Amino acid sequence: MNTLYADIIVDISHEKLDRTFQYRVPESLRGRLEPGACVMIPFGNGNRLIKGYVVALGETCQFAPEKIKDIAGMPEKETGVEDKMIALAAWIRRNYGCTMIQALKTVLPAKQSVKKLEHRQLVRLMNREEILSLLGECERKKQVAKARLLKALSEQETIPYEWITGKLGVSAATVNSIVKSGAAKLVSSESYRNPVKMQSVEAVRNTLSEEQQTIVTEVFADFDAGRRQTYLIHGITGSGKTEVYMRLIGEMIARGRQAIVLIPEIALTYQTLLRFYQRFGDRVSVMNSTLSPGEKYDQCERAKAGEIDVIIGPRSALFTPFPSLGLIVMDEEQENSYKSESTPKYHARETALEVAKLYGASVVLGSATPSLEAYYRAGKGEYRMFQLTRRLTGGELPTVYTVDLRQELQEGNRSIFSRKLQELMADRLNKGQQTILFLNRRGYAGFVSCRSCGEVMKCPHCDVSLSEHKGGRLICHYCGYTQPMPKLCPKCGSKYILGFKAGTQQIEEKLKELYPGVRTLRMDADTTRTKDSYEKILSSFANGEADVLIGTQMIVKGHDFPKVTLVGILAADLSLNASDYRAGERTFQLLTQAVGRAGRGALPGEAVIQTYQPDHYAITCAAAQDYENFYQEEILYRELSGYPPVAHMLAVQIYGKEEENAKQLALRLTDVVKSNMDFLSGKQKEQSNKKIQVLGPAPANISKINDIYRYVFYVKHAEYDVLVEVKDRLEETLRQWQPRQMSIQFDFDPVSVL
Ligand code: ADP
Ligand code: ZN
Ligand code: ZN
Repeated sequence: MNTLYADIIVDISHEKLDRTFQYRVPESLRGRLEPGACVMIPFGNGNRLIKGYVVALGETCQFAPEKIKDIAGMPEKETGVEDKMIALAAWIRRNYGCTMIQALKTVLPAKQSVKKLEHRQLVRLMNREEILSLLGECERKKQVAKARLLKALSEQETIPYEWITGKLGVSAATVNSIVKSGAAKLVSSESYRNPVKMQSVEAVRNTLSEEQQTIVTEVFADFDAGRRQTYLIHGITGSGKTEVYMRLIGEMIARGRQAIVLIPEIALTYQTLLRFYQRFGDRVSVMNSTLSPGEKYDQCERAKAGEIDVIIGPRSALFTPFPSLGLIVMDEEQENSYKSESTPKYHARETALEVAKLYGASVVLGSATPSLEAYYRAGKGEYRMFQLTRRLTGGELPTVYTVDLRQELQEGNRSIFSRKLQELMADRLNKGQQTILFLNRRGYAGFVSCRSCGEVMKCPHCDVSLSEHKGGRLICHYCGYTQPMPKLCPKCGSKYILGFKAGTQQIEEKLKELYPGVRTLRMDADTTRTKDSYEKILSSFANGEADVLIGTQMIVKGHDFPKVTLVGILAADLSLNASDYRAGERTFQLLTQAVGRAGRGALPGEAVIQTYQPDHYAITCAAAQDYENFYQEEILYRELSGYPPVAHMLAVQIYGKEEENAKQLALRLTDVVKSNMDFLSGKQKEQSNKKIQVLGPAPANISKINDIYRYVFYVKHAEYDVLVEVKDRLEETLRQWQPRQMSIQFDFDPVSVL
């Protein structure tokens, strides 16, 4: 048997992670070590035994074998915060595919060399009379600045340094001369940076509704009996979910435990934070991308030191090192932003469950339109589900009209605005009320459809839309199937079969032609390039500076606009025909949210959904705000086609500068999977008799970015663990092949079109 070597890190401060040391694995430890394992190793000249962590195992020795020492053994089981973070990194590495170093960099805060915040104060040493006599002297000598400071000192015993140099306008030299004279001294103290700057005002506490109270009671009945569970709260916006989260957190704090609140980045508004701050004051902090590295690091230090009980932030807040975490709340759990877009491509929902397991914490997921994953698990009894069925602060759901665009065309209307939408927009302009026009382009990848009958070109093997590519070919991004662009609709024979194109700019122009003088605001990738532009557009719309806001999915979140009484969805088909299996789910969520934007204020709202597929269940269910029926239809499709959450899917992306090389590597890797198939699925025979399925390779949806070609293939199987084995096998193969100028990424159960 070959000798096994381990790469070990001895210092887990972030910037030292890449420094590893190689040790030999003794026979006694063979088979017991995995990346992430904690070991004791002899270190330095004195061979002092210290703790280290295995980051990789292999059979190649990078140094002269006689210079390599043996691992001494494994320490007693430890459960410090540090060990938990390492265990978490090991879990991420195994389940999402990356190196141990990448996983550690994900979970550990970047260490900052920045010092703590310093506060300097001038503290009076002499008594008041002595100061006053010095003051008299200065006034006689016309030392104005010095006199100003002495006067202030005579009135208060300590003065913050910034105030002296700022407000008082006294120079550092003058302060020094006062210190020299023995009248006062400078004292410094340190503190962590606190990004939350708010005035504490205790807000009124609502008495919980019966539905809300049941959740709180049940969660703590479990918790106090030692049962840790995952809960799913299904309730529309305004049904009181946030109130329940805060109540649960309060109860956790009373039990000496801490809480992490995850929210999609874009939803973290001043208002959200204010609500938590009013309840928990300085015990709450935030973590998000606008914080400086020093501020981020300090929030972790504050959590460790017990200075805070609650942290609010996007998915990375999950790694806040609380000493005794009791609860993880994940609001709007269906949001795609919970999935990391870079390696390791972890999903915050699954990772939250793992964090909770390590800490013995409970998890609460909340959503108005739960992800298929969460609802499916709840249905199987893995999560406990609660429903909040009514809005607590009034606001009727809007009336929804679905317009069949095929019929509009037949009856001679070629405008992008249906007659119903035109009629309602004119009415709002007359009344001085606001309208939102929504273009749900998310996931949009250039599908082709018939304008007469609505038929969409789909892959015969994968049941997802084909995308139009240069040269007029249609292609499936899952399996690579391709066909020429048809000249006539295969269903009705019409020649109106075309690619679908629509942009926010074009809509704005048409709107201005139709209603000269209409005031518009546009929100899309182009108008939100700069940092504050997103907030700026929303607040100017809230201030009534425009009649119509036109935008992509960005506008369905964030502010409430009480004056908006009409929402128009211009082409529901855009997201419905995205070329991936989540198209229906995404459309249902976007439409439900968009429709819900109308009539949030005192006035009732209306919504118009324009579509070529008015009978599609994602559209009929969104119009009726009927989640349950949508779920039943959608889960059936996932079952029939073997898509998540019923089965699992691993995307393997290959990036390379040379197209041919990328394609060849992709092909060779699919061969590796295919030739190992019996072995891999054989191992799981008892659990499932389903075979591994390989789709592709195919050019990625965006097949080239910055001159890097992108190929992708998919592996499907009913069991997640089988796919983890496939990934392990591929990682091993890649270690042997060492492909040059190529990178490979793994994405389990992808949430976006790759
Ligand atoms: P969600 O998070 O589901 O959107 P919120 O918790 O924000 O719902 O509640 C919506 C509104 O109802 C808020 O203004 C909140 O203050 C109010 N609210 C929540 N719970 C109650 C309650 N038990 N009694 C009265 N008002 C409540
Ligand atoms: Zn047709
Ligand atoms: Zn296909």
